[in-house]
Amino acid sequence: MTTQTKRVAIVTGGGSGIGLAIAEKFTQAGIETIIVGRDEKKLKEAKEKLGEHSYAKICDLSNLSSIPSFVCEVIKQFGQIDVLVNNAGINMKKEFQDVTDEDFQKVITTNLTSVFAISREVVKQMLKQKSGSIINISSMAAQYGLPKVIAYSASKTAIDGMTRAMAVELSPKGIRVNAIAPGFIVTDMTDKALNSDPERKSKVFGRTPMGYMGQPSDIGDAALFLASDAAKYITGVVLPVDGGNSIGF
Ligand code: NDP
Repeated sequence: MTTQTKRVAIVTGGGSGIGLAIAEKFTQAGIETIIVGRDEKKLKEAKEKLGEHSYAKICDLSNLSSIPSFVCEVIKQFGQIDVLVNNAGINMKKEFQDVTDEDFQKVITTNLTSVFAISREVVKQMLKQKSGSIINISSMAAQYGLPKVIAYSASKTAIDGMTRAMAVELSPKGIRVNAIAPGFIVTDMTDKALNSDPERKSKVFGRTPMGYMGQPSDIGDAALFLASDAAKYITGVVLPVDGGNSIGF
């Protein structure tokens, strides 16, 4: 962050939860931060909370054909894109045998295909700049087997593979690509997934050495680090920010 004055970041799903906490850290660091989502009201409230250096843009990323024009619009308005945080995501909890092809595809389109599509468009710009940092938000579902979230697990495991494949191809061209694997973080998504399932909740705590759930700001701190020059020699990693959950017994 020291060598350049203006920095521009896109944070998908920046209107709530982890994405909002990432946007908070970015705006506080003076990065021009564009938060993206589908819900206009949510984005407006988030923008008000973020204040200076924040911009809200509506885009349904699962509508893949809208992504190139969305990225073009950002470049037209801001002139550059230095950081892309692929944070937007959905989950769906269902028994394996009840998941329809449509259910499966919906999660894959939002959590994986759209990440590929927006990254491809942003990379075209980053290649011109010969620099950039892409941060994908993965999950514990890619570190070990989690029941009842088959599509989500498939999408996040693919995110880890895509992070490594993008890193080897793009790092020689100045673009670093990393992922963060959040452990169990207090957000609406985990409220829904854990409060309805006490057995799952006690399992989460049972294997988290630090003994408590993380805050969205913990992920924000890690994202700001990976986006910054302090991480200039780091690429291709999947960084767990999880209170030890991924290595817990
Ligand atoms: P939230 O549900 O709070 O946030 C998800 C965000 O994604 C929302 O702001 C939503 O905005 C946006 N979004 C969803 N679908 C689309 C879409 N089609 N187009 C544009 N934006 C979309 O969840 P979290 O903050 O918990 O999750 C954020 C990320 O972190 C996800 O990738 C999730 O898988 C990951 N994660 C979360 C963990 C946790 O413990 N909370 C653990 C591990 C990973 P809108 O509704 O406006 O479209």
